[in-house]
Amino acid sequence: MAPGGSTCKEVLESHPTVADYDIGTAKVENNGTTTKGNLGLGGKHGVYSNNGVHELLECPVCSNLMYPPIHQCPNGHTLCSNCKIRVHNCCPTCRYDLGNIRCLALEKVAESLELPCKYQDLGCHDIFPYYSKLKHEQHCRFRPYNCPYAGSECSVTGDIPSLVAHLKDDHNVDMHDGCTFNHRYVKSNPHEVENATWMLTVFNCFGRQFCLHFEAFQLGMAPVYMAFLRFMGDDNEAKKFSYSLEVGGNGRKLIWQGIPRSIRDSHKKVRDSQDGLIIQRSLALYFSGGDRQELKLRVTGRIWKEE
Ligand SMILES: [Zn+2]
Ligand SMILES: [Zn+2]
Ligand SMILES: [Zn+2]
Ligand SMILES: [Zn+2]
Repeated sequence: MAPGGSTCKEVLESHPTVADYDIGTAKVENNGTTTKGNLGLGGKHGVYSNNGVHELLECPVCSNLMYPPIHQCPNGHTLCSNCKIRVHNCCPTCRYDLGNIRCLALEKVAESLELPCKYQDLGCHDIFPYYSKLKHEQHCRFRPYNCPYAGSECSVTGDIPSLVAHLKDDHNVDMHDGCTFNHRYVKSNPHEVENATWMLTVFNCFGRQFCLHFEAFQLGMAPVYMAFLRFMGDDNEAKKFSYSLEVGGNGRKLIWQGIPRSIRDSHKKVRDSQDGLIIQRSLALYFSGGDRQELKLRVTGRIWKEE
């Protein structure tokens, strides 16, 4: 019996929940296309090759690497601080009360380790001291992108080619080749802005992909339509492109010129920053002509590369 150790009740049932939580993360890591091997690892000194130590640092509950504070139960079973909270202070291995015991020895061992970035299979060959690895991975340029589709909770991540295939196959997104476009957005009951409409078209030009979003939402009290472009790649590359959008009718027109935003910025972030062509609903209905009962917006646009 562990000191003061009251056994916790049947908590084992709760473990599948804990495990489920991290399946998403695990999937990301396995999504890598080709394994490029452990390039560049041989030259470094770190303790990386010692897989046994590496395994010790894997949380037995969620299999993520553990960072301080690393906890252990009175019997020595370790687990990460996230899992400690999730298992309600009850050791998942032996079910004794966890108490509040740090595993300083393991924290010290971790400090001496050097590990490859977890996106190694996606092309990152950098090696990091254990405690800076996590920080690097949050900004690693090889980290997978989130699915750029808006309007549904989609948790798919991957590199650009796999996301393009995913948009086509799973979201039935229209794909267009070319750098100019001429689109018509038609909606029969444009007064239901609350049920926002999301439209996404992907353009293939300059060998890259761009997402044209069109949607209706409530901007403050005003119902508006908004169109904007996102670049399927990182911000530094997005900046090399520009685009213009035009919408009009009845002899009037609105023109927007902008720089596509990287899909690293969430769809919502771009929308909330209003970085795109915004059309007030009354104006949109005016552009649509007719009796204002139907939305018929013609949006033309062009993407070009800045020299
Ligand atoms: Zn854990
Ligand atoms: Zn234990
Ligand atoms: Zn990396
Ligand atoms: Zn998706």
